[in-house]
Amino acid sequence: MSAKKVNKIGVLTSGGDAPGMNAAIRAVVRTSIHHGLEVFGIMRGYNGMVDDDIFQMDSRSVANIIQRGGTILKTARSKEFFEPEGRKKAYENLKKRGIDGLVIIGGDGSFRGAQKFSNEFDIPCIGLPGTIDKDIAGSDFTIGFDTAVNTAIDAIDKIRDTMDAHDRLFLVEVMGRDAGYIALHSGIATGAENILIPESRTDIEALIYNLTEKEKRKKLVNLVVVAEGDEFGGANELGKVLKERLPQADIRVCILGHIQRGGSPSGLDRLIASHMGYHAVEALVAGRRNEMIGIVNNAVHYTPLDKAIKEKQNIGEEWMKIVKILAS
Ligand code: ADP
Repeated sequence: MSAKKVNKIGVLTSGGDAPGMNAAIRAVVRTSIHHGLEVFGIMRGYNGMVDDDIFQMDSRSVANIIQRGGTILKTARSKEFFEPEGRKKAYENLKKRGIDGLVIIGGDGSFRGAQKFSNEFDIPCIGLPGTIDKDIAGSDFTIGFDTAVNTAIDAIDKIRDTMDAHDRLFLVEVMGRDAGYIALHSGIATGAENILIPESRTDIEALIYNLTEKEKRKKLVNLVVVAEGDEFGGANELGKVLKERLPQADIRVCILGHIQRGGSPSGLDRLIASHMGYHAVEALVAGRRNEMIGIVNNAVHYTPLDKAIKEKQNIGEEWMKIVKILAS
């Protein structure tokens, strides 16, 4: 671990946006100032580094943002940063300002870029897991996940009211990319009868049997929460098959979509974003580099960026068992 002293920190948000990113930026800025460091905001992810869209921040730049969704630094995907010439340009723009440490708030793609950049130009990078999908190893929470789950719960509760009034079978698709965490958490919290996630194979015959059995027992209201990454192909695909196989059922499909990314961050997301943002700067000051800050069992946890990139969280079998028992 290098003990090189960091003097000027750059902070950026990259990849998909997530509620709570602003709370993390605020914590990074104010902790840097607490340490007497200069801190710079980098606009639109790595694009701002490549295009020199970088500005100095102070305590007031992050006033009144903790409760706001989205990110004041904007976020984007940067094609140029994939190329060595793009990263070289980015480095030159940091160098001319003397920025010698970076905090990257984003998902695994953003960490991949950070790892590469840091190896090439010897700039210490600390990653904060900012993604609604919770698809990164090394943290019990990711910034934005709790808000997205609560948004999904709120929407599904409303759908359940109309489902109940009409005795309907509803298939609700939630986000999560290749991970099923939003589906699992929102499904359990809304009492879904079935939850389909990419981490466990979808057995369509078992699902049809299950729904038919429930109908026989006069359970006419059925909620199936489907993760967008489920290997069966999402709620629309599932809807087509179920409409053919269960012609008597009144089936509706609802794709929740981008509402899950927006909105004011939950209390938990504000808290963990503040905690992680604080520790990101503490880590740089302590000479740490190329690690992701996570929270495990309520304590700060460091995971090398390359490990956070490669490993996914595991959904325990126990949760799937609980879903079955509670939905009977
Ligand atoms: P997320 O961080 O949400 O997973 P992306 O996968 O889109 O989002 O990655 C965000 C950005 O990180 C990309 O647009 C690119 O600029 C940078 N990036 C991702 N992977 C690499 C890589 N292998 N090399 C260089 N930059 C990368």
